[in-house]
Amino acid sequence: MTGFFSKKETQSNDRPEGKLLTCYSCGLYKDCITPKMQPYGNFDKRIINIGEAPGTVDDQEGKPWQGKTGRLLQRIYERLGVDLFEDCVNINAVSCRPMKNGKNRLPSNVEIECCRKSVLSLIKLYKPKLVVLLGNAAIYSVLGTRWKGSLNGVNEWRGFAIPDLEFNTWICPVFHPSFVERSLEDQPVTQIVWGQDLQNAFYKLNEKLSVYNKPEITFLEDISMLDSLIKTGQTISFDYETTGIKPHAKGHKIVCCSIAVSEDKVYVFEMPGKIELCKPFINILKDKNIRKMAHNCKFEENWSYEILGTRVRGWLWDSMLAAHILDNRAGITGLKFQTFVNFGIQDYSVGVKSYLEAENSNDINKVETLMQVKKGKQELMEYCALDSIYQYRLAVKQIKEFEIRNLPF
Ligand code: SF4
Repeated sequence: MTGFFSKKETQSNDRPEGKLLTCYSCGLYKDCITPKMQPYGNFDKRIINIGEAPGTVDDQEGKPWQGKTGRLLQRIYERLGVDLFEDCVNINAVSCRPMKNGKNRLPSNVEIECCRKSVLSLIKLYKPKLVVLLGNAAIYSVLGTRWKGSLNGVNEWRGFAIPDLEFNTWICPVFHPSFVERSLEDQPVTQIVWGQDLQNAFYKLNEKLSVYNKPEITFLEDISMLDSLIKTGQTISFDYETTGIKPHAKGHKIVCCSIAVSEDKVYVFEMPGKIELCKPFINILKDKNIRKMAHNCKFEENWSYEILGTRVRGWLWDSMLAAHILDNRAGITGLKFQTFVNFGIQDYSVGVKSYLEAENSNDINKVETLMQVKKGKQELMEYCALDSIYQYRLAVKQIKEFEIRNLPF
């Protein structure tokens, strides 16, 4: 196969750590029958399916999904009114068959990284309405460029329809058919979950991505203005940035606070050091006719009580609790994760994250150091403001979902 790849294909794609992510460093093209398998399918319904890697039969035939697992996938798609080869285009996280002693094997993360540029270029080129990520390799390939935290595998991601803002498409992770096939005897429920996830993904073909305005953030120098900005009868979402996680531990403070008054508009201010100067804000907390929302409201409740000496009245919604009621899988209720899967917004805490962390639970973190620098202060307060905005948007979306599912609230 000498000469199959151009010089550019084997020598481009610099990796930040210095290693080259190229076909040459991947090397899978060397041993397979069909190197760099081409996308296959007519794409009538504008769906891209991304599998793991070509298997034995696929490699022999020169196209994806030709073996037993491909037939399983074809059957379930057909049942849901989608033709795997007419309505979709099919690619894999790696385009060449990975082998060990002549048998199929899983592609390594480095091989997936080497092939990632080609996967992303194809999504960009085809402009699909829907991208179905079948299994861990596809999730690593695509979401690995978007989600900065740990990916933790398909069980954490399956079932979500993530609006991808870069490609203007829905990204729907589901199980890989080979996993479903292996589970058929012991855990037949896997196939039911798989079918439901795929059906929900196909519903997205008729739904446009929600469009939100750029958040309007107002920095308040003087919180006495709060009285005129937030009125009784309003619904707000609020959030604190604090010096740690234990409000009753010695020396802890609320550093700043944000109050979103809609899905787009938010006020943010530094919390005054003297309690009497916090009065306008405390009045808001005490007013039960100002309905409050937060993500994990017991955090705001405890800090309000310990630092500001008041209980919060008028709680309406806890978006963390609601996320758990809607989907009780572990590890998915955090605001950053929910913001990503619901709005496609990647982790916006990057600049301030290390300052928010403390070694031990009673310890004081480094946010006050950040507040002493103009740029740091701006970054922290913006981060705080975005938390409130995304909480608000999430709550609005969840309340609609509760209504659709007829859940009491
Ligand atoms: S799997 Fe992708 S990166 Fe690796 S050799 Fe084949 S085309 Fe190149």
